Amino acid sequence: MKCPECTKKLKKIEIQVEGAESKAISYQCDCGYAEFEKESAAKVVKELKLKESPLKIKQKIVKLSGDRLGFYFNSHIVRSLKLKPGEEVYVSVPDKKHIVLKLEE
Ligand SMILES: [Zn+2]
Repeated sequence: MKCPECTKKLKKIEIQVEGAESKAISYQCDCGYAEFEKESAAKVVKELKLKESPLKIKQKIVKLSGDRLGFYFNSHIVRSLKLKPGEEVYVSVPDKKHIVLKLEE
């Protein structure tokens, strides 16, 4: 493969991406040109997405009394975090797409 900028031969470099098992293959040139091989890059992205959230569960928000809303912790979450009634959690809202719950230690 040749560099589209300066026509020198491209160097094949394997890049280890943190959190992914596969390596992304990149072709680089001394002039600074670099491109990723599509397939290996896509594989790395896929692996990272799978790792992103091992426990991703879709739940419905339910209506409580007044204008309050709530949702249930299903048994998977209760078991894996050993939750008990009365336990307190800290709620933070980092942006409009996330609600983060932190358990008191
Ligand atoms: Zn070049």
